Amino acid sequence: MSTKRNIAILGSTGSIGRQTLDIVAEYPQLFEATLLVANTSADLLIEQARRFKPRTVVIASEACYPTVRDALADLPIDVHTGSAAIALAVVDPAIDTVVTAMVGYSGLESTIAAIKAGKTIALANKETLVVAGELIKKLLKTSPSVIYPVDSEHGAFYQCLVGEHRSEVEKLLLTASGGPFRTVPREQLEHVKAADALKHPNWSMGAKITIDSATMMNKGFEMIEARWLFDVEPHDIEVVVHPQSIVHSMVQFVDGSVKAQLALPDMHLPIRYALGLPHRLPTNERKLTLADYASLTFEAPDMEKFPLLATAYRAAAQGGTMPCIMNAANEIAVAAFLHDEIRFTQINEIVNRTMASVPVVAEPTYDDYVSTNEEARRVATTLTNQYKQ
Ligand code: MG
Repeated sequence: MSTKRNIAILGSTGSIGRQTLDIVAEYPQLFEATLLVANTSADLLIEQARRFKPRTVVIASEACYPTVRDALADLPIDVHTGSAAIALAVVDPAIDTVVTAMVGYSGLESTIAAIKAGKTIALANKETLVVAGELIKKLLKTSPSVIYPVDSEHGAFYQCLVGEHRSEVEKLLLTASGGPFRTVPREQLEHVKAADALKHPNWSMGAKITIDSATMMNKGFEMIEARWLFDVEPHDIEVVVHPQSIVHSMVQFVDGSVKAQLALPDMHLPIRYALGLPHRLPTNERKLTLADYASLTFEAPDMEKFPLLATAYRAAAQGGTMPCIMNAANEIAVAAFLHDEIRFTQINEIVNRTMASVPVVAEPTYDDYVSTNEEARRVATTLTNQYKQ
């Protein structure tokens, strides 16, 4: 009998998905890639499928389906298409762990399906908890499913909290690199372009999260993600800017002690930790040498320069569908900025104006999230079109 863990990777062609496959390849005796799901990157999905030989692949884009099906016709791999096929494929009883690495709201439906099916979730899609954290928490109460964080900060919190009593936690100290515009003067932010943001100093990530990192929306999302993962109030999560990205986050306890988790800024590490739990997997990859870092610095975030971080705290405090509205508007605005259609500073304007005009549902059902997401995207698209020159 095989003792390998069967892994589903939702978003296998993205940055986290590719690095997850690196970990599968690093420990072939432990892991098997059983399901690979991609959105539109047909060629890379085909290459991954030929190499890792999963049971099933799903290409969400129906236009790409014939290409993928024909290219894999000589292998015993089931090929499916469409978003409904993803939710269906993740509940396969053969799958143990689901790595959710899709971008944005698109991760929600299949993550919910995986939780209902009792899978272990390695959560990389933070928008799932931002949009519907309350609903996900409720679902987890009636399912054997557990969520292990893949985000580096949340992996750090998880590690700092091992062996501690939750009642003795005073606050979570969420570290932020500050993004590519940390040292750019505020009045110049109007003129920065997507290409400038995509040169992130420490982390190599997908395009959407890199822009979220530049606006610090990403840190706001991570605050909301942490709030649900670790049962803390938003005001007990403090953002600390740490440009070297060596301390991945910290926990402060009631006695004044602070525990930190340190490592090189490399997403393979939190992925390896999340997949390895409850064990740490030995690796020969490069490790941190503290003497290479003459100084590790920390400073408070500038919420006037990066107002979306303050917006996220406001949305979290308000609750209900407000974070869902914020996320939807941000997805629309970031896509427009990536196409150089709006200014960097207009991302914040679009998000806040959308939040001011879409009605909030205080205790939402799944259907409320779906309809609120659609309405917020519609409003944000209208606003974005007004800004386009
Ligand atoms: Mg992160």
